[in-house]
Amino acid sequence: MSIFAGLEAAPNDPIFHLTDQFNQDTDPRKVNLGVGVYQDDNGKVPLLKSVETVQRRMAEDPDPWTYLPMRGWEPFNEAAQKLVFGADSEPVASGRVATVQSLSGTGALLLGADLYHHQVAPDAGMIASGPTWANHHSLFRYAGYETGTYRYYDDAGQGIDFEAMLADIRAADPGTVVLLHACCHNPTGYDLSPEQWGPLAEVLADRGLAPFVDLAYEGFSHGLEEDAGMVRAFASAGLSFLVASSFSKNMAMYGGRTGAIHAVCADADEAARVKTQLARTVRSLYSNAPFQGATIAATILTDPDLRAGWEGEVAGMRMRIAGMRAALLGALEAEGVEDMGFITRQTGMFSFSGLSRDEMVRLRNEFHVYGLDNGRLCMAALNSRNVDHVATSIAAVHKR
Ligand code: PMP
Repeated sequence: MSIFAGLEAAPNDPIFHLTDQFNQDTDPRKVNLGVGVYQDDNGKVPLLKSVETVQRRMAEDPDPWTYLPMRGWEPFNEAAQKLVFGADSEPVASGRVATVQSLSGTGALLLGADLYHHQVAPDAGMIASGPTWANHHSLFRYAGYETGTYRYYDDAGQGIDFEAMLADIRAADPGTVVLLHACCHNPTGYDLSPEQWGPLAEVLADRGLAPFVDLAYEGFSHGLEEDAGMVRAFASAGLSFLVASSFSKNMAMYGGRTGAIHAVCADADEAARVKTQLARTVRSLYSNAPFQGATIAATILTDPDLRAGWEGEVAGMRMRIAGMRAALLGALEAEGVEDMGFITRQTGMFSFSGLSRDEMVRLRNEFHVYGLDNGRLCMAALNSRNVDHVATSIAAVHKR
C-alpha cells in the first residue's frame, strides 16, 4: 500500500489549465490572453538586451555554483531596495529597511507571510482586494492565515469603490495583514490614485494594521519611480510594513525567480533584527536563493549604461501595452462596441473586460480567444497581428 494512496489529485490551476487547453487548440487564429506574461509584437516573451548582455558576460567568465548567504546576495539586495524606495531616500539612507532576496514576488509574499505569522502575530488574518490575484489567498492560507476580502472593484462605476474599501479596512482587527497592489492591479487594471494613498495610510496606522504591498509590476503602469509611489508614500507616513518586489515582469526574467522582500522598520536597529529573522525564514524554507537572476539584476541596476538601456526597455514594454490597449479599443469601436472605453483607463498587463463567463466561454470555443472566466484579458499578449481578430471576436459575443 503506497503512503500516497489516499491522496486525490489537486484541482486544476485555472490559468495553467487554460494554457494546456490553448496548447491543444490547432486553430491558427488562436490567441492566449489568459496567462500574465508580457509578449512582444511577435508573440514571444522577450529576452531583454540588458539581460542578454549580462548573461553573455557570465557565460564568458563563469562563476562556480557556490551557495549564496541565507539573506541572498547583498549587492542585489541593496540595488533592489534602492529601486523600490529611491536611491537617495530617507528609508535607504537611514538603514531602516530590511531587504532579503526572494524567489520573485511569490517567494517574497511567502517570506513576509511566514515571518509575520510565526514571529509577530500568529492569530492575525489577511484581507485582500475583491477581486485579487487568486494566489494571494492560496499562499496566505497555506502560510496559516484565515483570509478575507475588502471591497475594491466597482462594476457599476468602472473603477474602485474607495469609500467601501476604506470602510472594510477600518473594520479589520488590529494586526490584520492588508494586502495591497502597488500598481497594475491584477486582475482589474484599476489602481488607487496618489491622492488616495494618504487617507489609506491614515486608516492603516490608526487601526494598527499590517500593510503588505505587492509590487509585482514596477515600471508597467506609469514608470519605475511613479509605480513605487504607494510604497514611498507609506514610508514617508511612518508606517511599518512589508513590500514584495519582483524582476519577473520588468526584466522579463519569469523563470529567473528573482525578487526581494522588504520590511520597513522604525529604525536601523529594528531592521537589523528583522533581517536576521527573514534570513532564518529562508533557511527553514529553502536554505538560500539562486544567484543567477540576482547577479543579472544587480549588474543591470548598478552599471550606468546597462541601467539606461534597461530603463528604455521597460518604457518600451509599457508603451507597447498602452498602444495595444488603444488599438483594441479603436478596433472594438469600429465594430460598434461602445461600452469598453475603460480599456485605456486601466493600466498594466490586464483588462477586467466585464465580459460574462458565458461570453468568455464563447470567445474560447467559437473564436479561439482564451481569457479567464472572470473576464480578465491579458493586454500584454495582444499584437498587431491578433488584435483585430480579438476585437471582432469580442464584438461578436458582446454586441449590445
Ligand atoms: N503578485 C501579482 C499581483 C502577480 O500578478 C504575480 C504574477 N502574476 C505575482 C505577484 C508573482 O509573480 P512572480 O512570483 O513571478 O514575481
